[in-house]
Amino acid sequence: MFQLRIHGRGGQGVVTAAELVSVAAFIEGRHAQAFPSFGSERTGAPVVAFCRIDDKEIRVREPIAEPDALILQDPTLLHQVDVFGGLGPDGYILINSARSFEELGLGDFADRFRRDRLRTVPATDLAREHLGRPIPNAVLVGGFAALSGLISLESVAAAIRAKFAAKLGDNRAQLDEAVGINSVERFLGDQAIEQGWTMQAAAPPSGKRVLVVGAGPSGLSAAYHLTRLGHDVTIHEAGPMAGGMMRFGIPKYRLPREVLDAEVERILAMGVRLELDTKVTNIEQSLREGGFDAAFLAVGAHISKRAYIPAGESGHILDALSVLRSMEGQERPMLGRRVVVYGGGNTAMDVARTARRLGAEEAIVVYRRTRERMPAHDFEVEEAEQEGVMMRWLSTIKQANEGKLVIEKMELDQTGFPQPTGELEELEADSVVLALGQDTDLSLLEGIAGIDVEEGVVEVGPNMMTGHEGIFAGGDMVPDERTVTVGIGHGKKAARHIDGWLRGKPYEPRPKPEVVTFDMLNTWYYADAPRTVQPQLDPIRRQGTFDEVVHGLDESNALFEARRCLSCGNCFSCDNCYGVCPDNAVLKLAGTASANVNGYAIDLDYCKGCGMCVSECPCGAITMEPEDI
Ligand SMILES: Cc1cc2nc3c(=O)[nH]c(=O)nc-3n(C[C@H](O)[C@H](O)[C@H](O)COP(=O)(O)OP(=O)(O)OC[C@H]3O[C@@H](n4cnc5c(N)ncnc54)[C@H](O)[C@@H]3O)c2cc1C
Ligand code: SF4
Ligand code: SF4
Repeated sequence: MFQLRIHGRGGQGVVTAAELVSVAAFIEGRHAQAFPSFGSERTGAPVVAFCRIDDKEIRVREPIAEPDALILQDPTLLHQVDVFGGLGPDGYILINSARSFEELGLGDFADRFRRDRLRTVPATDLAREHLGRPIPNAVLVGGFAALSGLISLESVAAAIRAKFAAKLGDNRAQLDEAVGINSVERFLGDQAIEQGWTMQAAAPPSGKRVLVVGAGPSGLSAAYHLTRLGHDVTIHEAGPMAGGMMRFGIPKYRLPREVLDAEVERILAMGVRLELDTKVTNIEQSLREGGFDAAFLAVGAHISKRAYIPAGESGHILDALSVLRSMEGQERPMLGRRVVVYGGGNTAMDVARTARRLGAEEAIVVYRRTRERMPAHDFEVEEAEQEGVMMRWLSTIKQANEGKLVIEKMELDQTGFPQPTGELEELEADSVVLALGQDTDLSLLEGIAGIDVEEGVVEVGPNMMTGHEGIFAGGDMVPDERTVTVGIGHGKKAARHIDGWLRGKPYEPRPKPEVVTFDMLNTWYYADAPRTVQPQLDPIRRQGTFDEVVHGLDESNALFEARRCLSCGNCFSCDNCYGVCPDNAVLKLAGTASANVNGYAIDLDYCKGCGMCVSECPCGAITMEPEDI
């Protein structure tokens, strides 16, 4: 059993932190328990929360006297409470502070523990910077996951999403199922291609030139937004075609190339210049020689990570990216009849599914941990299994010989790390494909002053600028989730900051409106409406073709799905407030009969502040403000 104790002060969210750790462990299929011990509930008073995690049912209930790990949310408690009491020399300590153990006066104390298990993290500062609120619990839980390896960061993210679902705007999920906004967006994208919608620059030419390095989703997004903002954009792309991992990673059955080509074409039609087969080797030189005023780097992560597997002479070991990349060329990769894929992420699923389509009779994914701990999305694993991909959990490859692999069984230790058991088995395989993640090639930044690289990725500020003035970066090469959506978001955000930087007027994001949570809605006004299911290609037909698996919605289904939106916080002209006001103080504005947020006004000379309109508004669009007298 693993026992965690969290010390903090009332109001800092220690109880939430303990809950998040236990929910993350629960998501991973383990037993978990979280509970607080309040000496006092006053804001600022010392508070302790406890969390236990085990692979079997937990029957103990008492507070934890001898923890395996400690999280300290407020270092000022060091002088007030015996926070480290009962912790053994192998224990983990995570302290919320920008200072080191030495700077906190804990240098000698720390020498009694394993140094690799002690960390400080400026969680409050990070929370203030990224969330706009000094609430450090989620950051600390992420820090604890990274330090201890007890739970994965993916599970922590899932626990946070589950806990704050309402705050994250997922209100419909609490009623039945979240709105399939992706399928509605896809419908619009398909319409745009079908009907030839075009896009124009929204601002007059600025006279400034920006170099974008890399034509993946992040670079293309930056190019689009910078062009809309009036700048002259050139993309330098090392490869022979645009799209990055959308073309050379994500298989066709998930992203048809005619869709990708059409999207790229629409961006180029705005006037973006794309120079293919143009690898940037020194960014300062490219900026200087091209006369550019700023650069956005989005070179992705293309170097496959390797694992040392002793291989006999004819052991056929390939890497996932080379296999997927070669799918874009004329010659299909030779994988054989029995293919083993080593890894547990989405890339592993993509290669295994591709192998099946190429005719492999067996495609087996070998992964060191359990299904719950797999980084691959659930739907990816399910689709792979439907297509006949087999999984070998808790297994690692010890040796690769011609036609045969030696597999060692693993077991998870108390902290969730896979450990070898010494139990060996043989597995027949014509080829092994390694899908162990990717690193970034940062050689274009060598020798450039101010660039800060941490754990193989480039550090950027909140404005997406690197430590070098005028050089911005985003996508997979900066520390964040590695997805197309995040990369596209980085491109948009960076474009706004580059625009502000070029114009000498730093970009200030608009303040975000207050989030309307589930409890602010009157859900009985909404009809039951289960989520629209996107049609899928039959599993048998999937095995022999690269046809798209998940199809789009037709117009009536897309409209139905869009109408499932609860319009949280946005008036949709239902007239409820107009009908219920006892004093006829709600006025309909002339000429705004259709849905329009400005379609109503409240005549404050007649309003007596009874709050009926607020309580009867289905979507929480009206709030009461205290009057200044
Ligand atoms: C197999 C696989 C499947 C995936 N599936 C999904 C998925 O289903 N959904 C999802 O959201 N994400 C998925 N991802 C992740 C997603 O593809 C990436 O997060 C995303 O493409 C990153 O975008 P990017 O623009 O930062 O980099 P990339 O897409 O990698 O593009 C970088 C571009 O820069 C170019 N380049 C590199 N170096 C230079 C240089 N020095 N000079 C000029 N050009 C250069 C490259 O050629 C490339 O075109 C998947 C990734 C892989 C590998
Ligand atoms: S608070 Fe009462 S009186 Fe005022 S507008 Fe709303 S319903 Fe009418
Ligand atoms: S404010 Fe609310 S109640 Fe009034 S019309 Fe809009 S959605 Fe309906």
